[in-house]
Amino acid sequence: GPDGRSGQSGHQLARGISAFQRNTAPLVRGELARLAREGQRPSQLFLTCADSRLVTSMITSSGPGDLFVVRNVGNLVPKPGEESGDDSVAAAIEYAVDVLHVRSITVCGHSGCGAMQALLNAEPGAAQTPLKRWLRHGVPSLERMAAKNRPWARLAGRAPADAVEQLCLTNVVQQLEHLRAHESVARALREGALELHGMYFHVGEAQAYLLVERDDGELFDHVGATEDLRHPA
Ligand SMILES: [Zn+2]
Repeated sequence: GPDGRSGQSGHQLARGISAFQRNTAPLVRGELARLAREGQRPSQLFLTCADSRLVTSMITSSGPGDLFVVRNVGNLVPKPGEESGDDSVAAAIEYAVDVLHVRSITVCGHSGCGAMQALLNAEPGAAQTPLKRWLRHGVPSLERMAAKNRPWARLAGRAPADAVEQLCLTNVVQQLEHLRAHESVARALREGALELHGMYFHVGEAQAYLLVERDDGELFDHVGATEDLRHPA
């Protein structure tokens, strides 16, 4: 490879790409050529965790041109101005809303999230690494969970398995709040041009849940096999 290594993972990558060229490229070349000609016009921004078990196209049945995707550790949305030195997430939000005019933004958390686990286990005053600095955008989610003045976000059908799962749910609700604070998002929401969605994907159950705002708090409801997914958060 270009870095002089040719280990197991390099072979695996090359084999996967080669299989794409052989099996899939002939089937999608026409559609990709059209998208290359006409440009992308995705209607959704999908923001989720970098976790390898989340395959965004699989769990949303989407293909080329459908989703503008932002992935980062913990599906976090830094509040406006708090990204200090890296405007990556804010830039993607601005581009998706102001240039691509997406109609919806989904923040998708998932079960067994290592970022949420790390947030829960973080020791105050521990050495700062890039990962720990990044996770500070999840601290408001921890604070939301600790607050006594409102009910926790719930999962339909059962109680959350543990504190990590509770934080995964709470984090989606909190990051949606950060999203609303971004100027382009606030404007598009005021104009009625944008919907926000919260989603939770349970990896072990292969089950998606969508956030519904209820009078008695936030509920993550099962997505059934036959339903029309329209639950603005
Ligand atoms: Zn994760």
